[in-house]
Amino acid sequence: MNETNGELEELYQQVILDHSKRPRNFGTLEDAIHVHGDNPSCGDEIDLDVKFAADGAVQDLKFKGSGCAICMASASLMTTKLKGKPRAEAERLARNFHTLVTSETEPDTKGLGDAVLLKGVRKFPQRVKCATLGWRAFEQALGEGGSVSTE
Ligand code: ZN
Repeated sequence: MNETNGELEELYQQVILDHSKRPRNFGTLEDAIHVHGDNPSCGDEIDLDVKFAADGAVQDLKFKGSGCAICMASASLMTTKLKGKPRAEAERLARNFHTLVTSETEPDTKGLGDAVLLKGVRKFPQRVKCATLGWRAFEQALGEGGSVSTE
């Protein structure tokens, strides 16, 4: 791997655009834990439905919403990384993603895949809220659902 910053930037743009234009796991689920997430500073809103298996694993998750490209792409990437994961692994991934975009320390990025490309947002506090909205909604779903806001 000997990528220049320009190439990385391009890859980042491609992944964000792809996921924001064609979000994965877009929709709603019956009999799921529901969370509404709101990021007033940007106008992002998402509705996340998560179904847990009897053993606590993330059986399925879908989201709907409207927001900026970063918010939609990050939520889409999240669903692809968390679907089918045991509960403890899903918790770990959400925690590590949060560290990735908010801290200078490098978390264990194993399992985060393309979501690692979002780490560039750590330089932009407003964008961090966009990138973490879906993940915060998921963490709320691990509790009892409800709503989350970045404000
Ligand atoms: Zn946003």
